Amino acid sequence: MNMQSQNIFSEIEKQKNEITNALMELIRIPAIAPENNGQGESTKAEKLMQMLKPIGFDKIEHFDADDTRVPSGKRPNIIVYCYGQNPSEKLWIITHLDIVPAGEESLWTITKPFEPTIKEGRIYGRGSEDNAHSMIASVFAVKALKNLGIKPKRTIALAFVADEEQGSEYGIQHLIKEGLFKKDDLIIVPDGGNENGSFIEIAEKSALWLRIRTIGKQTHASRPSQGLNAHRIGMEYAIALDKMLHQKYSLKDAYFDPPESTFEPTKKDKNVDAVNIVPGEDIAYVDCRILPNYDVEEILNNINRLANEFEKKTGAIIKIEIVQKAVAPKPTDVDAEVVTMLQEAIRKTRGIEPKLGGIGGGTCAAYFRKIDIPAVVWSTVDETAHQPNENTKIENLINDTKTYAYLATS
Ligand SMILES: [Zn+2]
Repeated sequence: MNMQSQNIFSEIEKQKNEITNALMELIRIPAIAPENNGQGESTKAEKLMQMLKPIGFDKIEHFDADDTRVPSGKRPNIIVYCYGQNPSEKLWIITHLDIVPAGEESLWTITKPFEPTIKEGRIYGRGSEDNAHSMIASVFAVKALKNLGIKPKRTIALAFVADEEQGSEYGIQHLIKEGLFKKDDLIIVPDGGNENGSFIEIAEKSALWLRIRTIGKQTHASRPSQGLNAHRIGMEYAIALDKMLHQKYSLKDAYFDPPESTFEPTKKDKNVDAVNIVPGEDIAYVDCRILPNYDVEEILNNINRLANEFEKKTGAIIKIEIVQKAVAPKPTDVDAEVVTMLQEAIRKTRGIEPKLGGIGGGTCAAYFRKIDIPAVVWSTVDETAHQPNENTKIENLINDTKTYAYLATS
């Protein structure tokens, strides 16, 4: 660690209380999407603006998206810049203002969701981890540089966006449409991670959720031959499907945990009301998480082909309906600059060896990967997001602030 980094780190340490208080201030203002009967992010964005102004960013821009469902009529997106010695190179840290609702309030046993409190080195409150932790870390990393009069090596752009929890249409996707991001930009979306900051997410699996509807003919259970038992055929099909998928798509990719694609029969809709009725309809669901190596359309074709075979064999009708289909983009290259830079920063600031990997669920890094801009998901969190008693460790908050400052200057 060189002198400059040590100065920056002790400047960050000095601001520990201020950092903690800033995070708690953000928790006090819920920013819930209209889909969940919320008022959007405008009030929180105003609060954040009050924090940002005195820091002395080189430029502040607003890219609000119109949305008549919220009182302000706008979903705010704020971008602040701290110009670097090399202004053509830009490092983005993108965090989201919105939060998920508190959920069942009686389950919040440490504090009320929007009354932040500190207990045993952790800040509790809705949105503390998701995503105020990383938002505050990115802001104070730049603040430390500004306080010390250090110009970062590359331009740092912090984006504070709306609408992440409901699909990013008014947030990241809106900014992408505005043409803000360039091919060689370095993009970090700190909206996930692990407990010591060693995990860098570079890939995700495709998600395919299916509803399988088997239609036979309802009849009295004492005379089954007069009907066609949709439940039995549905079960037989589900078992055959399960076998086919696991056998055919068994590839393992060590970057993922679990390393293989997963195909799980999950939900089951209720059928008949009485034990003595042969069901004429059977509805089951399958959750598939597919390695990006596989073509989702080809898998769907095979699922439908097997359904056709069963239809011919049994006389039932089997309809495959898509509940969700999110095709994973090509993973971020392991040699992409944003990946190697972050790996180096983790080694230098934590003394640990980072691990690259993929996850089963979609992240907003996918929007960037889709347009061929390498992006990573990284932060140091205990994965308490969306749960009651959501919290974040102050130590992790300070360490992530240091890692961002290191990334800016190295
Ligand atoms: Zn989030």
